[in-house]
Amino acid sequence: MSSGETSARNGSRQPLVAVLSGAGISTDSGIPDYRGPNGLWRRDPEAEKLVTYEYYMSDPEIRRRSWQMRRNSPALRAQPNPAHRAVAELERSGVPVRVITQNVDGLHQLAGLPPRKVLELHGTARAVMCTRCTARSEMAEALGRVAAGEDDPPCRECGGILKSATVMFGERLDPDVLAQAMAIAQACQIFIAVGTSLQVQPAASLAGLAAEHGARLIIMNAEPTPYDDVADEVVREPIGTALPALLERLLP
Ligand code: ZN
Repeated sequence: MSSGETSARNGSRQPLVAVLSGAGISTDSGIPDYRGPNGLWRRDPEAEKLVTYEYYMSDPEIRRRSWQMRRNSPALRAQPNPAHRAVAELERSGVPVRVITQNVDGLHQLAGLPPRKVLELHGTARAVMCTRCTARSEMAEALGRVAAGEDDPPCRECGGILKSATVMFGERLDPDVLAQAMAIAQACQIFIAVGTSLQVQPAASLAGLAAEHGARLIIMNAEPTPYDDVADEVVREPIGTALPALLERLLP
């Protein structure tokens, strides 16, 4: 990160605000918690197989069911809610903002946040990638092929197995993305963890890292988290109203 990143357009020094978002920020957009510790997938072993790399790669039937599950998922039709929009507005105001998200729905970007300001720890459900040649393309296009009768559409470049560009269970997080997230956690002056239980590592430890490096730690989540004790502020109110109110205080 260059030093220019922390200077605002008005010339005064603005704090770097990091927002770590989890499933709770998107529930108002109609997307349930799938992958959290109590998420839908974790409570249903058959559903969990559809998003587990080993099963997905070895079983064509799992892949067919996985594509059908994605066709029926609300994620691609979902719209940003006031919490996503408030984060984008803060960035537009000139305050340096970085979002680190555990979500794969792309709603921060749809709300108007420049894609380069968003780190997607678990990838994106809006794209697919080839497991052989790593070529990427749009999820919507792949789902169009499924709708047209290809029940397990192969890569158009090499014929390899296509998968959602999300980090499946059993896959590693992208080390570059994680390194950038850690750098942001260490550099920011304000770290807001919103809608995340802070129970999944290594995402959760980013909150601790930020606090250790002197950031003001704000936790906004319906349920208690393991980091509440080290937080400067804990907010339990609904995210759709509480986050816009909180971010308004940070506007220049
Ligand atoms: Zn390929």
